[in-house]
Amino acid sequence: MSGQNCVRHLLAQGVVAQVEYCADCGVLHVSMESITVRFRPTALRDLRDTLSAALASFREPAAAEADCAQSQKTLQ
Ligand SMILES: [Zn+2]
Repeated sequence: MSGQNCVRHLLAQGVVAQVEYCADCGVLHVSMESITVRFRPTALRDLRDTLSAALASFREPAAAEADCAQSQKTLQ
């Protein structure tokens, strides 16, 4: 299994996370601060899809309140 002996190659680096790939075991290492979670590519694609779906459904509270205030004006 993958772990400490992995030779990781950086694929992407963001503000809160980085993703590395180990060709020896075919695992993607997703690191956020002191936490690293290992994923098979299919599992990471599924996580990506889940996060994308959640963010597509999510509305910032301030935007939701503005929309609510706007619809109340329309009703008056
Ligand atoms: Zn490895």
